[in-house]
Amino acid sequence: MELGLAKTRLNHMTEASCIFCKIVSGDIAADKIAETANTLAFRDIAPLSKVHLLVIPKKHYKDVVELSESSPAVLGELMSQATKLAQEHTNGSFKLQFNTGSEAGQTIFHAHAHVLSDNSKDGS
Ligand code: 5GP
Ligand code: ZN
Repeated sequence: MELGLAKTRLNHMTEASCIFCKIVSGDIAADKIAETANTLAFRDIAPLSKVHLLVIPKKHYKDVVELSESSPAVLGELMSQATKLAQEHTNGSFKLQFNTGSEAGQTIFHAHAHVLSDNSKDGS
């Protein structure tokens, strides 16, 4: 039980094999655009639209369900940051998306919000 708890805590701090944890730690480069105390935002490496940002918690949660259940305040911070960046990078028309589970298209099991839009702020 003790060990289980410790492992859970560790998992929420970092995951050795997780690409997004490595972006947070700086071990993998990313086009970072903003950060808050508990979140980091960077450009998706394979953009699906003109604007394609990812906003992640700095700590490791496998998906938005785990984030919501463990740290609702961090999820709130992440949503505020995602909407703020969406306003800054688009003309106000955008999508926020959390793919959750492999059958829904989740490929990186570190919670993240996609900010998607073809309506960039400057029209480019
Ligand atoms: P998912 O499919 O899990 O919802 O989204 C994962 C996203 O992460 C994908 O859109 C993918 O292009 C992006 N991605 C995967 N590896 C990297 C990486 O190393 N750097 C960045 N910036 N994005 C990545
Ligand atoms: Zn992670």
